[in-house]
Amino acid sequence: MPDSSNLTGSRDDLRIDRSRCLRMRFSDSGCRRCLDICPNGAVSLDDGLSINSKQCRGCLLCTAVCPAGALEQGSDFSACLAQLSRVPEPVLGCVRTNECSHATMACLGSLSEEHLFALCHALDGRLTLNLSQCGDCPNSAMLAILAQRLNTLSASGLSDEGCCIVLAESAQDIKCRAESVDRRSFFRSFGKVLLQNAAVILSNTREQTEQRTDYTGKRLPMRRELLNRTRSRLSLELELLVRTHFDTCVSFDNSSCTGCQGCVAICPTGALMTGVMDEKPVFDYLLCTGCGLCREFCLDHAVRVTPRAGL
Ligand code: SF4
Ligand code: SF4
Repeated sequence: MPDSSNLTGSRDDLRIDRSRCLRMRFSDSGCRRCLDICPNGAVSLDDGLSINSKQCRGCLLCTAVCPAGALEQGSDFSACLAQLSRVPEPVLGCVRTNECSHATMACLGSLSEEHLFALCHALDGRLTLNLSQCGDCPNSAMLAILAQRLNTLSASGLSDEGCCIVLAESAQDIKCRAESVDRRSFFRSFGKVLLQNAAVILSNTREQTEQRTDYTGKRLPMRRELLNRTRSRLSLELELLVRTHFDTCVSFDNSSCTGCQGCVAICPTGALMTGVMDEKPVFDYLLCTGCGLCREFCLDHAVRVTPRAGL
């Protein structure tokens, strides 16, 4: 059996698109989410976004917090979902746990709240996250953060109707049964096809670790796209919880908005569009990540970015 205990994710698993970074789009942006979460000091924002490849250990924690899609995981999350949905009680692990996981990702640090929410509602029964090799891994800092993300979902009621996600830090707690393709599993996975198809769309062009899109181009980060696909199949009660937890409301002060459309141009995701009836921009909450760049950019302080809760 090959020894995978010295494996970790690597800088190659990180897909970087500097043109999406809020600081590259607007030099006065105060975003530093990636810098704050990186446990290895590998991120620099002094002269634009850069990642020190010698210091980056591929924990991918930064990909779970970047609101612009400038940093994303390069691996195919759709393949994970497809593999996991074929197994009654699946186990998801990292590259160090190949032998005892049904599907693997470079590092489970890349599992954002949106990913965990999608796993929770795409699968039935129980999903085990295999953390048995994390204790002595250089990326072990992600353990507490992953647990915190799961707790946040649970405290918000967002995991109530989904499968049970269990964190297993000991090999004894992991039951990795062989893949089953009995009739029941087949039809259950058939029901997940919509979500898997969505994930396939998200997995396009993951080969390159560095890419660049036009600054004027709009693109929804993979995490937000995944959330939107997941929410399309939820109960109304759960959808209301999703709104409260994940959604943002962008509104405009009538007296100070001049209708210059600067926020429309600077928004990285296309959540703001030029209004037809009115000079004020039109806002689409499904496309907004709450990054706040429109508010930072507006010279007239006319943009408000608030939680969508209560709407
Ligand atoms: S979190 Fe994303 S948008 Fe913010 S500074 Fe880092 S790379 Fe740029
Ligand atoms: S509308 Fe504003 S807060 Fe929402 S994604 Fe666009 S720039 Fe960011």
